[in-house]
Amino acid sequence: MTSLPIYNPARGSVLRQLTTHSASDVQEMTQMARRAQKEWCQRTIGQRADVLRTFNRLLMDRTDQLALTLSTETGKPINQARNEIRATPDRISYFIDHMQAELAPAVMHVESAGAPVPGIGTLDEVVTYEPLGVVGNISAWNYPYFVGSNVFAPALLAGNAVIYKPSEYAALTGLAITGLLHEAGVPEAVFSVAVGKGDIGQALIDSGIDGVFFTGSYETGLRVASAAAGHLMRVQLELGGKDPAYVAEDADPRVAAQALADGAFYNNGQSCCAVERIYVHHSVLYAFRSAFVEAVSGFRMGDPEDPETYLGPLTRREQLAVIQNQVDDAVAKGATLLLGGQAADREGWYYKPTILSDVNHEMSVMREESFGPIIGIQSVQSDQEAAELMADTPYGLTASVYSRDRARAANILQTLPTGSSYWNCCDRVSPRLPWTGRGHSGLGSTLSREGIRAFVQPRSWHFRAPS
Ligand code: NDP
Repeated sequence: MTSLPIYNPARGSVLRQLTTHSASDVQEMTQMARRAQKEWCQRTIGQRADVLRTFNRLLMDRTDQLALTLSTETGKPINQARNEIRATPDRISYFIDHMQAELAPAVMHVESAGAPVPGIGTLDEVVTYEPLGVVGNISAWNYPYFVGSNVFAPALLAGNAVIYKPSEYAALTGLAITGLLHEAGVPEAVFSVAVGKGDIGQALIDSGIDGVFFTGSYETGLRVASAAAGHLMRVQLELGGKDPAYVAEDADPRVAAQALADGAFYNNGQSCCAVERIYVHHSVLYAFRSAFVEAVSGFRMGDPEDPETYLGPLTRREQLAVIQNQVDDAVAKGATLLLGGQAADREGWYYKPTILSDVNHEMSVMREESFGPIIGIQSVQSDQEAAELMADTPYGLTASVYSRDRARAANILQTLPTGSSYWNCCDRVSPRLPWTGRGHSGLGSTLSREGIRAFVQPRSWHFRAPS
C-alpha cells in the first residue's frame, strides 16, 4: 500500500493523504463483484432505478458539502461545482426513464408456417439484452460527476457491477460518490472504488473485467486500448479534443464573442469540449476580437470557494508549463498576445486567461489540446478556408459555427469529422444525444440510447414452434 497525496490547487499544498489500493485488492474487488452481480442483475430494472432515484435525491440534499470537496481538490469554482452536481440527476433520470424501453425484448421477425411441412411450425426471431457483467469505469477529474455517472448510472441500471477508478486528482469526490451509492442501496460489492494512480487503472484492466469504459486523454486512451486488447473485452474511450469554432461574416460578433468566451474559459478551459480554436471571418474580426477580450477580461479570477469566482486555479500544476510553452511558441512564431500570457502572481496554480491573435497552424496552440485558459483567434477569408482549418486536426469531438443561416452552418459542419455539431452554441452536452468522438477523440458513445446499449450484450433467439 502506498500513500496518495491529494492537493489543494488553490493553495499549492497537500490537503490529505489517501492510502491506495494494490493490484491484488483490485483483483479481489473484481471477484467479489462477479459474485454480487449475479444477484444485482436478478433485480428488476424498476428496483435498480429506485436505488438510483435515491442517489439522485442524496446528490441534491448534499450538494453544498459535495461541491466543497470537489472545489477544494480540483480548484473548480464553487458555483461551477454546484452546477455540475445539480445537473447530474437530470442525466441519470434520462437513463432511469429510458432503460426499460431500450432493453425490452424485441420480436424482430415472425414467420408463419408456410407450406405444410410436417413438424415445422412458426418461427419467431427475438432479441434480448443482458448485462456485460463487471465493468471498469476509469474516470477523469475535470467533471467527475458527469463523466463518472455517464458510465456507472447506465451500467448499474442495466444490471452490471462496476469497479470505479476515479482520477487521482478527484479521488475524494470518487470516494464521496461511492459512499452515496452505497447509502442509496447499491450493494458494496456491486460498486467498488479503486484508489490509486494509473497503475491501478492498469491493474483494473488486467483483473478479469468484461469491459473498460475510459474517460481521459488520447495518450492514456491508447495505453488502455492496448492493455484491453489482450483480454478481448468491450472497450469504450471518451478522449480529448481540439474543438474549433467559426464566426461567419453574417453572425453577430458580440453575441458570438459572449458565447465563445464562456465556451473557451468555463472550468478554466479544462473541458473535453471546451472551444480551443476560433476562426473568424476577416470582415468581423475586429468587432469580434474586441468583444471577446472585453468578455474574458470580465471573468473574475479568485478563490474557488468564493461564489463570485469564475476562474480558479488549474487542477494540475504540470499544465502551467504546457500552457506557457504554447504561449511562448506562438509568440516566437509571430502571434499577438491580446491578454494574459503568464501565470498569475498569487499562491496556487493560477494562469491568467490568455488570448492570442494572428495565430496559424504552425503553432502548437492551434494543434495540441491546451486544456487550460488559453485560446487562439485566426482570421479567415471564406467559409471554405474555415472548414479546411477546422478539419486540420486528428481530434473529432465537437465543432461550432456562428451564423444567421442554419443551412450554411450545417453545410460546413457536415464536412467535419466530429461527434457533435453546434449551430450558434458550443460546449453543450445533452443526455438525449450520443456523446461520441471520432479519430483521436475516442471510440463508442455515452448518453442517449447508444449509451444504454453500450452496457449490454444482445442474445439472439430463434424460436421454432412445433406444428
Ligand atoms: P488521463 O488520461 O491522465 O487520466 C484518465 C484516467 O486514467 C485517470 O483516472 C488516470 O489515473 C487513469 N490512468 C492513467 N494511466 C493509466 C493507465 N496506464 N491505465 C489505466 N488508467 C490509467 O486524463 P485526465 O484525468 O487528465 O483527464 C483529462 C483528459 O480527459 C483530457 O484530454 C480531456 O479532454 C479528456 N476528457 C474527455 C471527455 C470526453 O467525454 N470525451 C470528458 C472529460 C475529459 P490518474 O489520474 O490517477 O493518473
